[in-house]
Amino acid sequence: MISSRIFEKWWLRAFVALVIFFIWQICYAINKVQGLEEEKTVLQATIEVLKRKSDMLRTEIHEKERTLTRLDGRIEEIDTQIRDHISLLPRVNRSTPFIYFITPTHFRAAQKADLTRLSYTLSHVPNLHWIVVEDSDSLTSSVAEILKRSRLPHTHLNARTPSDQKMKYTDPNWTLPRGVEQRNAALLWIQNQLSGVGSGVVYFGDDDNTYDLRIFEEMRKVDNAGVWPVGIVGGMFVETPVLADNGSIISFNSIWKPDRPFPIDMAAFAVNVTLILSHPNALFSFDVPRGYQESTFLENLGINRLNMEPLAEKCTKVYVWHTRTEKSKLSKGMVEKLTKKTGFNELESHALGVAY
Ligand code: UDP
Ligand code: MN
Repeated sequence: MISSRIFEKWWLRAFVALVIFFIWQICYAINKVQGLEEEKTVLQATIEVLKRKSDMLRTEIHEKERTLTRLDGRIEEIDTQIRDHISLLPRVNRSTPFIYFITPTHFRAAQKADLTRLSYTLSHVPNLHWIVVEDSDSLTSSVAEILKRSRLPHTHLNARTPSDQKMKYTDPNWTLPRGVEQRNAALLWIQNQLSGVGSGVVYFGDDDNTYDLRIFEEMRKVDNAGVWPVGIVGGMFVETPVLADNGSIISFNSIWKPDRPFPIDMAAFAVNVTLILSHPNALFSFDVPRGYQESTFLENLGINRLNMEPLAEKCTKVYVWHTRTEKSKLSKGMVEKLTKKTGFNELESHALGVAY
């Protein structure tokens, strides 16, 4: 009797303890769930705030992008205005003879750079028509773009040098004549398009030479054929006609093949357009001895030392230099890309003026 009461008591106690334990466990779990719920609510609120922030940032990005586009447009506008100001120069002035500036040009690493520099020189010259003849099978858009940006009156032609006359990348610079086919294409264009033109002057301006703006004003004085000194050419600082006191040409100071009829560089002379029109057979040729391109051409036009006009203050000033852009040192792989004209990345294509 006593023992069963004791048992009952013990069982009861254990039961009560168990119930209390369970209740405590439930309370603990409820508490934990409540904590998690709270945490969840806080996280949800944070997510909402972040979402709002992200929306705001996205709107801001869009706004900034719109501003950027607007600014790009403005830059383009100002760029055009600047070019318009340059073109405020009297581009066409009836009383000034036109200069037909013939530039043969061929693809190489520095072609775009050289032509860009030349285009900015020429854009300062009024009454100049730039005839650019590419040594290629077709016109390239890179050269077309330079011509367009120059805002100069221009003609864009192409004439490929025959492959047996074309120099390889590794050839020394002076083995074959350059620009023959291209200058002839320009001369034929002049004969076809300018027949009947009564005044103007034709000049062969290579793409890598350096031109003082004063050379253009000298050219305009040409009646027949004008001649002047050229800097850094033929192994000399200056090649020049040597004049007598009365201003006539006695000789030339050239040291390279001085016996040529005209031992001068292509950059040293300009001729009246009417001479070109009246001598359609005066063209350049691959069949003349090395160094005789200038002499043969001038002789075919009927020029001699007596009817040539020394200019640039009686040949005492140098307004043009036969500068040459150094052939860039390139790795074998780069040379291969350049020769094949393929394999460039986008930026390289832009640098070299090659379609990407
Ligand atoms: N040229 C060309 N094809 C060629 C090599 C040259 O049309 O294969 C052009 C060249 O771009 C330049 C002119 O002919 O305007 C004279 O060439 P270069 O400047 O190389 O000759 P150099 O300086 O030796 O007189
Ligand atoms: Mn050159």
